[in-house]
Formats: sequence, structure tokens, C-alpha cells
Amino acid sequence: MRDLKIPEQRHPEKAKRPDNPQPKKPAWIRVKAPVGQGYQETRKIMRDNKLVTVCEEAGCPNVGECWNQGHATMMIMGEVCTRACTFCNIATGKPPEDLDVFEPGRVADAVKKLGLNHVVVTSVDRDDIEDGGAAHFAQTIRAIRKQSPSTTIEILTPDFIRCAPEALEEVVAAKPDVFNHNLETVPGLYPEVRPGARYFHSLRLLQRVKELDPTMFTKSGIMVGLGEDRQAVHQVMDDMRAANVDFITIGQYLQPTLKHHRVDRFVTPEEFASYEKAAKGKGFLMVSATPLTRSSYHAGDDFAKMQKARQAAQG
Ligand code: SF4
Repeated sequence: MRDLKIPEQRHPEKAKRPDNPQPKKPAWIRVKAPVGQGYQETRKIMRDNKLVTVCEEAGCPNVGECWNQGHATMMIMGEVCTRACTFCNIATGKPPEDLDVFEPGRVADAVKKLGLNHVVVTSVDRDDIEDGGAAHFAQTIRAIRKQSPSTTIEILTPDFIRCAPEALEEVVAAKPDVFNHNLETVPGLYPEVRPGARYFHSLRLLQRVKELDPTMFTKSGIMVGLGEDRQAVHQVMDDMRAANVDFITIGQYLQPTLKHHRVDRFVTPEEFASYEKAAKGKGFLMVSATPLTRSSYHAGDDFAKMQKARQAAQG
């Protein structure tokens, strides 16, 4: 059995790569250490319910702030991912276990205990399963709805690239409030950054969600600081708008270890502000573009703002 705390076992495909020295973090990236009673309570609920979180697995810098408020993003379908994206800290490999049929119930139980108004659920990629885990996602949405009918549900899904079209249809039919699928980076960096994925497939997936249910909010995000240029970021924004994406998130890429894709540079807060302005001008209902923006960061507050923005747009 692999010990996923050991970096070489967590990322066997990255172990032989040369080290990428990490540039020193600027002041605007520093965050407070995770302390506080809320943090401890959230941690206990996650452990008691045997749940994995992307907050911990990805080494998210916002974990102190989010967990103090009970905002944990649960990651379903195990802790081992079948892809090997070069930016990602989730362990890579062949998942050792089948899907846990009791997991949707444990997620629903944790959502209730945390008393969440809005929850974000994500997953690893499971290319080893025929439907990519679509039925499991749908089951999790239904289980949360049953126990916490007033909680709004946001899902952050894989790309279901090897699945029949019914897989995506099943997830959409379960009616999450927000369907998020991240493009992660600009198309030119896909071979290097997201080698198992295809930019236009992911874009089409977002467009398809809107076609299947025009009332569903769609959301997608990219990281910057991976080596992209400004023009390519603007192209991604245009592509997302062409696919009717409602909400874009843009955050600074941070390097989990020396073996991961290097941080090309730290994008300044002023550049983020300029991306935000441009995205608003292109017609997104909601934009979050700051160095510490992550898909699930302040997701509940942002969902409420997005609903208001839609109502205002519809008059
Ligand atoms: S930003 Fe998202 S991934 Fe990071 S700690 Fe908050 S909820 Fe977790």
C-alpha cells in the first residue's frame, strides 16, 4: 500500500523530474496559519465522516480562513486521481478502491452538521470507471438535497472525456445549482499543464451543460502565473462567454512542490484588477480575479451575488 504522505509515492510520475526552484512569494500571497475553533470543528467533522477535502489535498492557502467558517470543499471518489496534471497536488495513480456507496450519505451528513447554506463538492478524475463517476456525483447531490433542502449545491466536476454523453446528462439532471468545470489554463499550455485533457472538450462540456439546462449557473476558472500571456487569457474569457459561462474565477498558481510545474511569475494585484475589469466588460455575471481566488473561495457569497446579477440582468 502506498503512503500518500510520501511525495515520491504521491506523485510517482513526477519523482524523476528535475527540481523547479520556486520564486519567493510576494507579500500579497502570504496567508494566516490555520488556527481557531471553527477550523478544529470543521476538521473533526471531516475526519468523523471519513471525508477527503481538496482544501487539504491541494494544500490550499485559504484553508485557515475557509475552515474557520466551516467552508470545506469535499472531494469524492477517493484520494487518488487517474490524471497527472503538472500543477496539481492530488495523488496520482490507479485508485485502489471502488466507489464507496456510502460516501454520498456521509457527505450529506457533514453538510448538515456544518450547517452550510452553500456547499461545493468536487472529485478526483476516475477514468477507470465507465461513467467517470457521474452517477456517484448525482447520488451525492440527491443525498445533500434530501438532508439539507435549503442548501445550494455547487459541483466542480472532471471532464468525463472518455464517457458517453449520458454521463454528463445524468449529473445535470440531478440539478446542482452551479455546475463548475475548470479550464485551468490557456489552450497553448494544455500539453504541458493538463496533458490528459483537451481544451475544446472542456469548453464544449460547459456549453453542453447550458444547453441541457439553461437555468443552471455555469462556472469555470483558470490559474495564472503558469507562463500564459495576457492575450491568451483574454481569448479564454471570450471562449467561455461563447460557451455561455456565467462566472469566471482567476487565481495565482502556486507550486505545491519542487517537482510540479514551475511558477513562471507572480501576477500583481493590479493585473488581476485589470482582468476583472475586462471580464466584467465581456459580460460575465460574476467575476472573481484575485491572487488568492480559488474555485470554491467565498463560493457561497459569490453565488448570492450571481443570483442577484441574473435577476438584475433579466429586469
Ligand atoms: S478556497 Fe476552496 S479549496 Fe481552498 S480552503 Fe477554501 S474551500 Fe478549501
